[in-house]
Amino acid sequence: MTYTGIDGKVAVVTGGTGGIGSAVVQTLSRAGARLVVVDLDEDRARAAAEALPGPAIGIGADVSTESGVESYMDAAISEFGSVDLHHLNAGIAGKPGQQLTEASVDEWDAVMGVNLRGPFLGVRSAMRHFVARGTPGSIVVTASIASLRGAADLLAYTTSKHGVVGLVHGAAVYGGPIGVRVNAVAPGIVPTPIFGEAGMQDMRKRASTSPLRRAGEADEVAAAVAFLLSDDASYITGEILSVDGGASIQNTNRYGGGAGLWDTAGVDADLLNAFRGD
Ligand code: NAD
Repeated sequence: MTYTGIDGKVAVVTGGTGGIGSAVVQTLSRAGARLVVVDLDEDRARAAAEALPGPAIGIGADVSTESGVESYMDAAISEFGSVDLHHLNAGIAGKPGQQLTEASVDEWDAVMGVNLRGPFLGVRSAMRHFVARGTPGSIVVTASIASLRGAADLLAYTTSKHGVVGLVHGAAVYGGPIGVRVNAVAPGIVPTPIFGEAGMQDMRKRASTSPLRRAGEADEVAAAVAFLLSDDASYITGEILSVDGGASIQNTNRYGGGAGLWDTAGVDADLLNAFRGD
């Protein structure tokens, strides 16, 4: 697959050794980009960079901190001179299954730090760089189906990913006049390690309730990221592109939209029992 205007560009991908990030760095590298693979573990980031077909470096950095974002930008500029494309993709889930009443402030802050402060710092740093060098670039943030829909658990995750939509909209309005496009992909269920072993096991089963009746593959998200970063998407900005097999557009209150596919009595049993004191 070719993507216009990716060849020769410098691309930063955060969370670049994870499930989706690995697919993105491979897709962009195959399309001719020079890659800066950013992740928490420097050794893993370096190994991922070395495995790519084109020029690449691996950087260990925590995207939730200003010093982490500065360090990956400094390393990218020192190696390649400048950065054109940013995929701000690093994310954590928090504790799946945790109900609102059990949610902790520490977990809330940790999830917000990686999923929302991280993309904010990444977007700010990218914009400062584009303004300083006087030429535009393109940014994609990884949002989620949780940016658009709620769930009884994953409250911090859902809130952080809703926040990403606001960040993308605001940054797209800022960047438009200087030619910087800012978009997001909103994956549905893609089996990766993010939700842990247990989450991984029933991901494919849960995804079977989506219109396409299956989970997504990381390569399918990567293709959408590469498209949005490329000049093929030259008139698209501020867009939240769902890559979710149609999961977010179902009317689950209707049988024809999936109502009844889940046993809600079973799903709600623990909550109702706790409420009644059973
Ligand atoms: P993953 O766990 O495989 O990858 C996430 C990567 O982010 C990991 O490599 C991890 O080390 C890295 N990371 C975590 N905290 C970091 C930090 N502070 N600094 C730098 N790197 C950090 O999960 P994934 O599924 O590939 O997730 C990628 C993105 O996709 C996340 O933003 C996630 O919220 C989003 N997403 C995933 C799904 C899904 O079903 N897998 C669905 C919707 C959205």
